[in-house]
Amino acid sequence: MRFLVSLFFVSVFSFSHVIVSGQNKIRAEKDIDELMARMTLEEKVGQMSQVTLDVLGGMSSSGRFDLDKDKLLDAIVNYKLGSVLNTSDNRAMSTTDWHRIVTTLQSEAAKTRLAIPLIYGFDAIHGATYVSGATFFPQPLGQAATWNRSLVHEAALITAYESRAASVSWNFSPVLDLGMNPLWPRIWETYGEDPYLVAELGKQVVSGYQNNNGAGEQVAACLKHYLAYSDPKTGKDRTNVWLPENYLREYHLPSFKAAVEQGALSVMVNSGLINGLPTHINKYLLTDVLKKELGFSGVVVTDWQDIENVFKRDKVASSYKEAIMLSINAGVDMAMIPYDYVTFCNDLSSLVREKKVPMSRIDDAVRRILVLKWKLGLFQKTVTEPAAYPRFGSGDFCRKAYDCVAESITLLKNQKGCLPLKPGVKILVTGPNANSMRTLNGGWSYSWQGEKTELFAGSYRTILTAMQNKFGKDNVAYFPGVNYVMEGKYFEDTVQSLAEFSRYAAGVDYILLCLGENSYTEKPGDLNDLSLSPNQQALAMMAARTGKPVILILNEGRPRVISNIEPLMSAVVMTYLPGNYGADALCDILAGEVNPSGKLPITYPRYVNSLACYIHKSSDQQSNPQGAYDYSADYNPQYDFGFGLSYSTFEYSGLSTDKKQYRSGDTMIVSVKVKNSGILAGKEVVQLYISDLVASLSPDVKRLRGFEKVMLQAGEEKLVSFRVAINDLSFIGQDNRPVLEPGEFRIDIGGRSLNINVN
Ligand code: BGC
Repeated sequence: MRFLVSLFFVSVFSFSHVIVSGQNKIRAEKDIDELMARMTLEEKVGQMSQVTLDVLGGMSSSGRFDLDKDKLLDAIVNYKLGSVLNTSDNRAMSTTDWHRIVTTLQSEAAKTRLAIPLIYGFDAIHGATYVSGATFFPQPLGQAATWNRSLVHEAALITAYESRAASVSWNFSPVLDLGMNPLWPRIWETYGEDPYLVAELGKQVVSGYQNNNGAGEQVAACLKHYLAYSDPKTGKDRTNVWLPENYLREYHLPSFKAAVEQGALSVMVNSGLINGLPTHINKYLLTDVLKKELGFSGVVVTDWQDIENVFKRDKVASSYKEAIMLSINAGVDMAMIPYDYVTFCNDLSSLVREKKVPMSRIDDAVRRILVLKWKLGLFQKTVTEPAAYPRFGSGDFCRKAYDCVAESITLLKNQKGCLPLKPGVKILVTGPNANSMRTLNGGWSYSWQGEKTELFAGSYRTILTAMQNKFGKDNVAYFPGVNYVMEGKYFEDTVQSLAEFSRYAAGVDYILLCLGENSYTEKPGDLNDLSLSPNQQALAMMAARTGKPVILILNEGRPRVISNIEPLMSAVVMTYLPGNYGADALCDILAGEVNPSGKLPITYPRYVNSLACYIHKSSDQQSNPQGAYDYSADYNPQYDFGFGLSYSTFEYSGLSTDKKQYRSGDTMIVSVKVKNSGILAGKEVVQLYISDLVASLSPDVKRLRGFEKVMLQAGEEKLVSFRVAINDLSFIGQDNRPVLEPGEFRIDIGGRSLNINVN
């Protein structure tokens, strides 16, 4: 009976249009003070609380998520909660469903005493993840492989537009953690391993999401996961990071600093620990560094259930209540609770009454949250109409996603001009990633772990179907060879009887071997061995034994070690997690219709015990010239950071600087000529590296200080110039401050180098 009543209520309710917060027409930021003056402690605490949608309703018998009247009343009216996240039942919904749900939530908020609108957030990390029919781009690591600022910006603009089409205005993205530890299961969510590359692309993402020109088309960015989340000693998700402060500042802080300066509206906290201290209670990092030193004026939100983790997992508080006190006092503004809001709200209110959390801290947090809502226009319009977003999922957007994939795919090996393939060749397509939309998209795709992708992405092409489309069904044979175990076990795969393999391979000219990983996200992606799975390696060996040229297609979220099989491959193509258009773009590259221009945004390791990335010290290169010792663990990756082949060749000449001597405060101009010496038009990423030759702390062997992607017709030459602030050549010294030490620096671009002096 109660069920029926609630269904009736919801359906009447969802058609209501009481969505303008009548009593609170906040017109200017200063009106927020007036609103706050009228708020009770409980109303303020409610604003600081965020719950997951499943707390507020459930699936009806028709398979539709319905909000529950009683649950809404308790959470939004009684407890005055100010924010909701995630999708229902862990699956994507249509824009119409989103509109229905957000309208109902906002209508409930409009009934509260002060009618403060809710803010809804989700993780749209490569497109609007939880919105069916949305445009999916490559995952961030693939986007970074484009090294193309404008493509990354466009992807963010479209993601924001399509999120707003679903009435969601807060995006828990971008991940600005450095993808520098290949064991970590979230590498594919990053924009690569280099602080400069991540900062440059991060700024593009923030400005795209927060798009100042598009009223109703912007979402708040959320920089995550502050700070150094990606570099745990164990390589496992949400574990302890061991890092001195100078390294935190040298490598991990710059991308966040750049995005804060870009105006990012929110930051999410690292779910793990740094030097034994859970980041959620690290007052130095959250308040002193982020809010005071960087001047961040937006909202600091916790990660999932992480205040509870301070108590239950990390054991630095003896109760949940103490963990709440420590986190809020450290600088947390909003708690992603996500289930038990009653305990959080009651405990936080008591802590304020007991004077264990100062009212000034609560006011600071609430002001930040209300300013965020105001900046997003939520006080004016809480819900958007799907019909106002006619470009949602349009051909134009698909084309942009395709362009992004086409520039991300990275050609890593091409022996004897194996690629591009000639028309009419016969190909055997094999491997567990050959016929799967799930593996092309990875996690955060239609569901958290990406396991529901086949239900939603049926209209797109897998590698197999795209190959059949491009090269003709009669020319493409298929033999999976190895299959993933589909439920839960993200890294297990099973071998199909390989006896028939050679029969399939007999009539073909090439073998397209599609290997990598199944989808996973966060902790379930923790790994005990970075090597490509033994079954897949066995399949690769079998393919090689046929004597046919084997083209290895890598479709993976992190660089699985392939050194046992790589020498047997004629060509290697890295696709990362390219999304719904990945297979089409890949086939266009294989057919020579697109000239590959992606470059690795990470180092591809050769050995599982040698995981240093390109930013390393000279001590990582100790091979001795006499060969007396075998230093096989020296820095010697399978493929370097920044590496990627083209069907064209590029030649560099005329490297020069405007001066030879510089001082602190100067800007150096570095110029170089780059020429397409091939016979096809192509794009080249001009990469500027600078090395400090001697410093009081062992300098990194080299550091990326500039990049530019240029289009060159066959035979064309262009002059590319970079402006480098000399102060950016400083490093963080032992006293945790930047220091620019005089001396010689080497500049490297495209194999050319010259030295300059700083004094
Ligand atoms: C992840 C965050 C994400 C949050 C909300 C957490 O488990 O670590 O990156 O934003 O869930 O979905």
